[in-house]
Amino acid sequence: MVKRVKSWLGFGEQSKYVKDYFHTTNMKASIYMSAVIIVLELWMIIRMTRSIFTDNLKGVFWVLVEKYYTNYFVLLASGLIMLAFALKHITQKSSPRWLGLPAIVVCGLVIAAEVRIVFVRTGDLIAKNKIDSVMTEYRSKYIQSFIIILSSLMLISMAISVMIHQKDRRWKSLFVLYLFSFVCLDFGIVLSANSYSEGGQMLTFLTMVLYVACLLTWRPYVGFLILTGSYLIFYYKISGMLDLSTVKDFSGTVDFSQFPTGLGDGIKINGFMMWLSTMIFCFSNYHKTMAQAKKDEDLESVNDHLRQISVIDELTGIHNMVYFRSEAEKLLKYVTTDTSNTIYLFFDIENFKYYNEKNGFHAGNEILIKTAHLIEEEFSGSLVARFSDDHFVVLTKFDGADEKREKLRQRIAKLDEDTRISLKCGAYRPHSRENDPSLACDRARFACNSIKKHFDQSYRLYDSELEEQFKRKQYIINNVDSAIENGYIRVYYQPVLSTADTSIVGFEALARWQDPIYGLMSPNAFIEVLEEHRQIHKIDICMIEQVCQAYRGAADNGFPFAPVSLNFSRLDFELCDIVGELKRLAKKYNVPTEYLDIEITESALSTAQEVLKENMKRLQDAGYKVWLDDFGSGYSSLNVLKDYQFDVLKIDMKFLAGFSKNEKTKPILMNIVNLTKQLDMISLTEGVEEKNQFRFLASIGCDRVQGYLFSKPMPYGDICSKIEDGELKISEKYMQGYGVKQ
Ligand code: C2E
Ligand code: CA
Ligand code: CA
Repeated sequence: MVKRVKSWLGFGEQSKYVKDYFHTTNMKASIYMSAVIIVLELWMIIRMTRSIFTDNLKGVFWVLVEKYYTNYFVLLASGLIMLAFALKHITQKSSPRWLGLPAIVVCGLVIAAEVRIVFVRTGDLIAKNKIDSVMTEYRSKYIQSFIIILSSLMLISMAISVMIHQKDRRWKSLFVLYLFSFVCLDFGIVLSANSYSEGGQMLTFLTMVLYVACLLTWRPYVGFLILTGSYLIFYYKISGMLDLSTVKDFSGTVDFSQFPTGLGDGIKINGFMMWLSTMIFCFSNYHKTMAQAKKDEDLESVNDHLRQISVIDELTGIHNMVYFRSEAEKLLKYVTTDTSNTIYLFFDIENFKYYNEKNGFHAGNEILIKTAHLIEEEFSGSLVARFSDDHFVVLTKFDGADEKREKLRQRIAKLDEDTRISLKCGAYRPHSRENDPSLACDRARFACNSIKKHFDQSYRLYDSELEEQFKRKQYIINNVDSAIENGYIRVYYQPVLSTADTSIVGFEALARWQDPIYGLMSPNAFIEVLEEHRQIHKIDICMIEQVCQAYRGAADNGFPFAPVSLNFSRLDFELCDIVGELKRLAKKYNVPTEYLDIEITESALSTAQEVLKENMKRLQDAGYKVWLDDFGSGYSSLNVLKDYQFDVLKIDMKFLAGFSKNEKTKPILMNIVNLTKQLDMISLTEGVEEKNQFRFLASIGCDRVQGYLFSKPMPYGDICSKIEDGELKISEKYMQGYGVKQ
């Protein structure tokens, strides 16, 4: 309850936002109020001056100065200064600071006039030898002069301040606001009391009270104190003036002594009502503004939060790419930015995936957070953001970038010496201001990717050689659809042979892109690019269809054909319903399930998601054989074997790379082959190039082989010719009607 009353009176705590909101509201109101005051006072001054001449009031000039001019001038000066401060607060820099100058001049005139009035009055007293009755005779007039001089001095100091200082100081504009309110009220009291004493209205006072009530949308108790004080002073001033009992009626018709002393009840009641309405206005105005301020504050804080999360990377807390792109764009557009001295750096943590697998997701995240902060530390003052996964980008000055990069690399290497995580960096130097940050990052990234797995190289600058490759990459992304449509994607078949009799028992379907500009492109040139840009499924669906067509052609014409294994990318399962596509096409061309096998690489399974698991089951349930490709090339081979059942295990060709030199190769291969037998899988070794390799594989019981020793991948037509020529031998059961044709 007490708390409620307190907050109703405006005693409660206010947040900084609410305080600022009130201040700005007051300043905005002050602009209108002070502008009205300035116009009004100028008009009053002109009117008065004119009437000096037209009504021939020259003789009472100093009376007018004392009674009206000084008041008008002080109000005019305070209006000018108030306007200057309010504009300064609202518009910040572009405020018309010169407004202080006329205010100083006006205040100077007022002080001069007041000083003269005081002198004349004192001289008058001295002349009349009544110096000791100063306090009784001119007390209120002296006080009034003192107040006017003091106010003018304060106004001058504020006028100087608004002209000199650039920055908007809260306490100063508040001080001016109170001073302005005070001058308005004083003006209202003095003028209304003057005209009241002459039988006129007290409208000026009421107007000023309302003015100030509008201006001081501040704590209600402040408005209450100031305005109630003004009412009391005004009441005190006029109550002495209208004591009707003391009025002499010279005509003798009215007996004024019959009237009650002091102000009439009607005036008192009206005055009270007026005070009450002003107070109600003051309070309701405060609470209305307060409600608006709170609503805006809530909105602002929600906006702030949204703004924050839209530009901050959730995991690392540094900026994200949305922020990076927009800031980089702005930065490069500034005329002051020397583009020739800027560089984009793209960082990639090599071996991060291995670290993640070995130490778990949580530890992986820790490394990312630490790396992010180390980059920010080394490149403090530059634009730093997390690009994606374990990739970061920096836009910085070219000068000194090398040293910082090197220092950073060393610090990152120390984060985990066991896994030997290291930082690779690709760089791109923009040529002109029009550079698109996304494209620049892509280029830096491209440079970085070009040194992946190059263990001796940690930095690569994007140069003309990479530019050529980059263009090709862009070409691939932009033309994959038309390449499929135009039949540029071809299937090359590489035979898979049985070790028992070296007859062909299958083919691996390998993609080739026969391009009119770039010629025959191998999958290394486009598979990774298409995976990166999530377009790979298009090629894989196209491959399924072509293999199905080839089967149909062979079956219809009695040509030899063996089961074909298709390479599926891990992303196929995310980007489309690849199993559905396979079933649809197999049905369309009527291909038996045993003629289509699926190769999935071991690395695809190490980060297996639910979709992949589900689809593997769907494949096997439909009767398709699933092969594990590139076994032994990754880090989690054995885990994969534990979790999934495969029909064929394809031993990666890297095992054969050091066959004759590396002593350990043979026992390892032997163990793998034994393992496949125990796990009820068919073993296949790829990359067989030498006869002794084949002999060894046959001796340890490896079921199948594939490699250049027997055949390179080639178009189906070439395979048929070689079979016909006897260069290649296909297993009896796949001869189909070939014999019939002969
Ligand atoms: P992969 O699945 O491991 O395919 C085997 C690669 O080794 C093929 O390269 C093949 O030509 C090559 N190779 C075969 N025998 C030998 C040999 O004795 N010595 C050597 N040094 N290499 C041999 P290719 O055709 O360039 O394919 C590269 C990779 O591209 C493939 O590796 C596969 O991962 C991917 N790929 C190829 N076609 C497709 C496709 O249609 N879809 C998807 N998703 N990926 C494909
Ligand atoms: Ca393969
Ligand atoms: Ca392979």
